[in-house]
Amino acid sequence: MSDQSVDYHPMWAELGLDLPSHDALLGAVGQLFGDAYLTQENRPKGMDYLNFVLSEVHGLRIKELDDFRKAGGKVFGTFCLYVPEEIIRAAGGWCVGLCAGAEFAYDQVEQIMPRNTCALIKSFMGFKLAKVCPYIESADLVIGETTCDGKKKAYELLGEIHNTWVMELPQMKRPQDLEMWKGEIRELVKKAEEITGNTITAESLRASIKEVNDKRRALQRIAAACKADPAPISGKDRLLATQVAFYDDVPRFTQMMNALADELDQRVAAGEGVAHKGAKRVLVTGTPMALPNWKLHDIIEKAGAVVVAEEMCTGSRYYQDLVDENAATLDEMIDDIAEKYLDINCACFTPNKGRIDDVVRMAKEYGADGVIDYSLQFCGLYEMESNGVESAVREAGLPVLKVTTDYSMEDVGQLATRVEAFLEML
Ligand code: SF4
Ligand code: SF4
Repeated sequence: MSDQSVDYHPMWAELGLDLPSHDALLGAVGQLFGDAYLTQENRPKGMDYLNFVLSEVHGLRIKELDDFRKAGGKVFGTFCLYVPEEIIRAAGGWCVGLCAGAEFAYDQVEQIMPRNTCALIKSFMGFKLAKVCPYIESADLVIGETTCDGKKKAYELLGEIHNTWVMELPQMKRPQDLEMWKGEIRELVKKAEEITGNTITAESLRASIKEVNDKRRALQRIAAACKADPAPISGKDRLLATQVAFYDDVPRFTQMMNALADELDQRVAAGEGVAHKGAKRVLVTGTPMALPNWKLHDIIEKAGAVVVAEEMCTGSRYYQDLVDENAATLDEMIDDIAEKYLDINCACFTPNKGRIDDVVRMAKEYGADGVIDYSLQFCGLYEMESNGVESAVREAGLPVLKVTTDYSMEDVGQLATRVEAFLEML
């Protein structure tokens, strides 16, 4: 999974990675990518960029982070949508998403946390404990958030072995919660300034708001193209674009995704798509799918359907809302950022009706024939919420399949059978 002509082992060793384990991980991810992605037909040419980025996920991109840090730059690792990238970038820092999407070193993880912890948490702790993630090892500060209980407690453990700082996220969205959240964002401003040694100004924040909005606009364009039948890009490819958005260079990624969106618009105009016209269209909602978790999309699309939208953190929750660009002062900009981020509909909030409304609205907008509600095993929040999702979607006249799984490949056969039966029913 990296440029064969460049040997990155010295860089990985300098970062403190366990080289044999890391080689094993890269080999496994390369195989997964080959099976899920490179077997697809009729992909847009713009996907060559994302293929390249993924082939260099621990190579060239880590080298860019390394060069940036050696020139005095600071890297911030984040796990969740609620940490505003705009603030970090306004202080001159770079953000990288850390959520890990593969099973690794669970034996070590289960010595320090319960077995029945969700795969996302076990995965990031496994990557850290086994020293196989060059992103976390490049992070000068990891920023956590008080979302679910599992993450909150995991950050305490992570804090013992990595420089970690946690933001307090409210659990409701009342006016007093918004006020509290604005205070937290101001604490983040101070923290970002302290770590980078730079001061955030109205100019730097205005520029970073625009830059991150532009990235989200490009992803919105890619998503909107999938309202067409046939869809011009597979769900798997669209998911990859959103996953890469969390760690790639922002202006470069935006430019490449706008080029991909231009190509998708041309495909739509020409009636070209990745599946035949009339192929079953599925909306997926639920817990985030961090790299390299492509399992459910792969099963759905290998069964002949197409995933036309994702209502999830690696989907619409990431790009559907923008920060207002009209604020005049630094204070107003910070307030606008707080408002935009508190609008994200995560199941850690009560109530969280906005998510259910989004699922129903998106299912209509994207012409979905059915909805698959995906939950990571042991994620109490999303599993609890799935009853509400199911009733609302059924009320809107669409069938729903509830899927609870993890990162292992053991249940792929069984899941494929359930998905195929669901698709036949649509
Ligand atoms: S599901 Fe909630 S806690 Fe998880 S990344 Fe999304 S917003 Fe954060
Ligand atoms: S999937 Fe659920 S349990 Fe896991 S980190 Fe996200 S909110 Fe927490």
